[in-house]
Amino acid sequence: MLKAISCLIKRYWHTFFITICFTLVAVIGYQEYQAFVEQRTIQREVSTGHLTNQEIHSNGILVLCYHRVARRSIFRTITLTLSNNDQIHDYSVTQQQLTQQLLFLKKHGVRIISMDKAIKLAKQSKPLRHKYVTLTFDDVDATLPENATPVLNRLGHLSYLAFIVTGNTGRYDNGTRLATWPQLKEMRDDSNVTFGVHTYNMHRLQQNKPLLMYAKNYRWFTRDFWQSEQALKEHIGYKSRYFAYPYGEGTNKEQQYFARHGIITFSLNNAIIEPGQDLSQPLPRTMIDGDAWQKIVRPWVLGKVPH
Ligand SMILES: [Zn+2]
Repeated sequence: MLKAISCLIKRYWHTFFITICFTLVAVIGYQEYQAFVEQRTIQREVSTGHLTNQEIHSNGILVLCYHRVARRSIFRTITLTLSNNDQIHDYSVTQQQLTQQLLFLKKHGVRIISMDKAIKLAKQSKPLRHKYVTLTFDDVDATLPENATPVLNRLGHLSYLAFIVTGNTGRYDNGTRLATWPQLKEMRDDSNVTFGVHTYNMHRLQQNKPLLMYAKNYRWFTRDFWQSEQALKEHIGYKSRYFAYPYGEGTNKEQQYFARHGIITFSLNNAIIEPGQDLSQPLPRTMIDGDAWQKIVRPWVLGKVPH
């Protein structure tokens, strides 16, 4: 029997070899393809929709969503030129860009307010007399305390809302290091920050779809949110009333859960918040990526429809 097998191997070893190589190539190729699709999915799921002409001419509240704030350096310029990493390209502004954007808003009379104030205005029924902006930062990587907070403090101790992935603080994620709890505490003490939740550990995709988009993950989601509340209470000292959906979306059942518990949630749709807004539904936010500033924020601030 053994002799027969070894005879077979001797005779067909090249066929075995080719089959194994082919299978290996197919498996690696499939994994690479999945990674590529995942990357595209993330890209597609962040900035959706545009402001209507009517919105561009309306007062209201525009919620801006930032990610990383980089220092301008030769190293960064080289990294940007060489890298294909979409996170670095589209999710980053430099300190200088952030400063310019905030000064632009101030110069044109836009008031930068806290989320608490924005929610109060949204609950009113009378029309707003000004344009307002609320600043939010997702994921809270180390560049927020290191590079963004100094800018916000310098420009008048501006209010901002930072959404933490509460189970991943201090870890490396997509090539960036998330802020640690001691850094977050320092932010709480030294700047005008309010913290919100960006899940405990569900900021991930499953077969190219955000975990929170699966109805079957509902129980996991409620446990995950409870863990976030505990972590925030333990490290920061309060529970948050704000939640940002990773990739901007969740299920109706999750949204009902938040509405029942008085938690305000955020999507990533481009729209302005106006008085009488339905606060039991996710509030829109504009992600400041490559061209959102030019296509959304600038036209609204200036009240001019882009060509
Ligand atoms: Zn995020």
